[in-house]
Amino acid sequence: MPGLLRVGRGGGSSSLFGEGFKLSVRRYASQSSAAPVKERRRIAVLGGGISGLTMALQLVRRLPTHDIHLYEAKKRVGGWVESEKIKVGGDLALVEGGPRSIRPASLPGLAMMSLVRSLGLEERMLSIPKTHPSAKNRYIFHSGKVNLLPNSLASAFLAVLTNRPPRLRSIIPALVHDFRTPPDLGAGAESVEDFFRRRLGPAGLKIIDNAMSAVLHGIYAADTKDLGIRSIFGFLALAEKRHGGLIRAAMPTRWNRFYRTDEEISKDNATAREMIAKEKQEGIEQLELEEQLGKATVNYMKTTSIFSFKEGIQELTNAIEEDIVQRGVTIHRGDPIKEIRASPQRLAEIVLQGGDECKFDRVVSAMPSNDLAAVWKDDPALVHLLKTDTSTVAVLNLAIRSPNPLRVPDGFGYLVPRASVDTNTLGLLGVVFDSAAVPGQESSEGNITKLTMMLGGPFFRKGFTVFDQLQSLGPGSWGLALKTKGNDDDDVPQQVQELTSMAIDTLCQNLGIPKEVLAQSAIKAKLRLQVDCIPRYDRHHLERMKELHHVLKHQEPKGGCLTLIGASYTGISVNDCVLNASRTANLLADDEGTGARGIITGLEHLAQ
Ligand SMILES: Cc1cc2nc3c(=O)[nH]c(=O)nc-3n(C[C@H](O)[C@H](O)[C@H](O)COP(=O)(O)OP(=O)(O)OC[C@H]3O[C@@H](n4cnc5c(N)ncnc54)[C@H](O)[C@@H]3O)c2cc1C
Repeated sequence: MPGLLRVGRGGGSSSLFGEGFKLSVRRYASQSSAAPVKERRRIAVLGGGISGLTMALQLVRRLPTHDIHLYEAKKRVGGWVESEKIKVGGDLALVEGGPRSIRPASLPGLAMMSLVRSLGLEERMLSIPKTHPSAKNRYIFHSGKVNLLPNSLASAFLAVLTNRPPRLRSIIPALVHDFRTPPDLGAGAESVEDFFRRRLGPAGLKIIDNAMSAVLHGIYAADTKDLGIRSIFGFLALAEKRHGGLIRAAMPTRWNRFYRTDEEISKDNATAREMIAKEKQEGIEQLELEEQLGKATVNYMKTTSIFSFKEGIQELTNAIEEDIVQRGVTIHRGDPIKEIRASPQRLAEIVLQGGDECKFDRVVSAMPSNDLAAVWKDDPALVHLLKTDTSTVAVLNLAIRSPNPLRVPDGFGYLVPRASVDTNTLGLLGVVFDSAAVPGQESSEGNITKLTMMLGGPFFRKGFTVFDQLQSLGPGSWGLALKTKGNDDDDVPQQVQELTSMAIDTLCQNLGIPKEVLAQSAIKAKLRLQVDCIPRYDRHHLERMKELHHVLKHQEPKGGCLTLIGASYTGISVNDCVLNASRTANLLADDEGTGARGIITGLEHLAQ
């Protein structure tokens, strides 16, 4: 329903991003009120994904006289952010190899909005309002078909009553179990699965199998057993401590015998203390950002479900790249970091694979932690703390140009839960209906249908087609021009061609698209095998991060010059990466400004 789509400033209303917003808040502001630092110290940022780019940008804005260098192993910056135009039937279709949409909600969303505004990109935004069908309609593959998930109280009630797929009736005994089960205030590091099993009982397991696993497949490409509750749903873990349960969190406190004040729950409980402190800190940051952005923008964001840009998410990284180059950041591309060494006088030396060696006053690593571990070398205990489990995902973009638009359900897409594993031999995590989810990125909108199939994650293992076909190939991307009777690209490996054909067959089956319709269409496919692309925060993640912070702070490896940012540590969404890079850049700039030369680990927020 393109009529509902808001482009740029809410479809032309300039007041939505009201002029005269305050720049008084320094934490995220693009210009500091502090006097510029005169000394020309040298800072290296390693890794040119969204985290490293944001760090370089915020540093050069706050420390314009510093000598800032960004090192990226590949020829292009952006990391997993990669938007590409592919030609299909004479038209161009924009496809995303990595992130495709950004949620403007909550603190990380505000940090992103602040960045977007500071880059002058508001006019380029494609925002999808919460009233748009793609915001309301989400589907789930269950019982061999694609089912609409309840999107209102009435439809949820009906779904429970009729127990239609995805079979949510077990929610009633699950909530009764939650109500009757006293809180476990001392619960240790639990997985998402263990937490819900404890709170919701045996019926909770059915909800995980039928629905919740699908959501986590879609966001983290991981199983509920492999994710920690505090990292993924920290607010639920805190709700249990405060209110005694999940359903009780919705009750008035005076009727809830398990309700405890923050003082009560934090008295003998260090975990609760940490969670409350973090919540308070984030509340303050949120207020600051809301004040900076202004009421009109905040209200606009509240009515927005997701957004992207006219040329895809890469517009963001392109704009940062352009900005930092203009401000004097030196970008070194195509030569990976080989080693980081400590050097006398609190300097760190980085060594490139090509042989260059450079000394810096500070080194900010925005590389994935496993890549950092590979270049760290001399400290096995620290390397152990850096090691992070990851998921591998195969992303298959399809652009189909047909005489008439394909009949795809009106909505964001569908996800595949654990319960469908027997019929999911392909290893499908979910499908995004891109043309419906973010319309407005093509000129001939009506005739091109874009879909993205995500495969792998917990299914990237023996027995699933995605693994059996691709595991021998390693990371790579392949473009295919397809006809129904086979692919017409010669240099694409056989396994890629076979997997693509099987994936398209599965898609047609799931969505009921007749093969004859595809026979009349031009189809372009792009398959990317993104190896180790999404970190998995397991139940020990937060403890590991605290230990890492402690070691960096007190043992001062690499001369105490090292700061860590990026998706491996403090949140995987693009927004999380922007928030944490901005936060840490400001800590660094504040410290550089005072001349204190303190140690900033980048993990301060997790270690309070
Ligand atoms: C398929 C997919 C879909 C996603 N969808 C969404 C979404 O819709 N919304 C959302 O919010 N998030 C999404 N995400 C998550 C989000 O995109 C990532 O978590 C985020 O982009 C990570 O950014 P980063 O800068 O921390 O890391 P990266 O993007 O991994 O950047 C790290 C950089 O370091 C470089 N590097 C590595 N080793 C070296 C070395 N030795 N020397 C120099 N450089 C090195 C790498 O080349 C890379 O460019 C998705 C991720 C993937 C993979």
